[in-house]
Amino acid sequence: MDSAGMEGAGAARQVVRDAEEYLQRVVAEVMAPHPAECVLCYIARMLDEHGCDETLRWAGRFRELRSPRATALESRMQAAGGFCDCEVFSNGYRLRREHLERDIHTDELREPDRPPTCAGVGRLDSTKPCTVWESRRRRSPGCW
Ligand SMILES: [Zn+2]
Ligand SMILES: [Zn+2]
Repeated sequence: MDSAGMEGAGAARQVVRDAEEYLQRVVAEVMAPHPAECVLCYIARMLDEHGCDETLRWAGRFRELRSPRATALESRMQAAGGFCDCEVFSNGYRLRREHLERDIHTDELREPDRPPTCAGVGRLDSTKPCTVWESRRRRSPGCW
């Protein structure tokens, strides 16, 4: 290969590296919580798009990105019965009644296919769920 060819290969490698970095950045942004999105809406959205890997992956990610010092977040999820992200919902929290949909076939209330829009939380580093969620174990409000 002549020197022009070598440079060409080097430039191509640089382009690939740039593309990879760009992709990683895009993926990191796609996986990040929306501004003011609460922890539960974030986990619900990530589960909807990426599924559960049987750990508190999305809860942990939310904490890392939003509230790195809120180290109690995962243990709080576990205390609510959520030992992985999907269990946070099957055991810990559910949508409030007004966010459920009436199933036209069974006439029963059910969760909508897509989670509702997050009602938002006041502070960006808050790890509280927003008002679309309620605890399945009706504890006193404000326990969080
Ligand atoms: Zn799970
Ligand atoms: Zn929310």
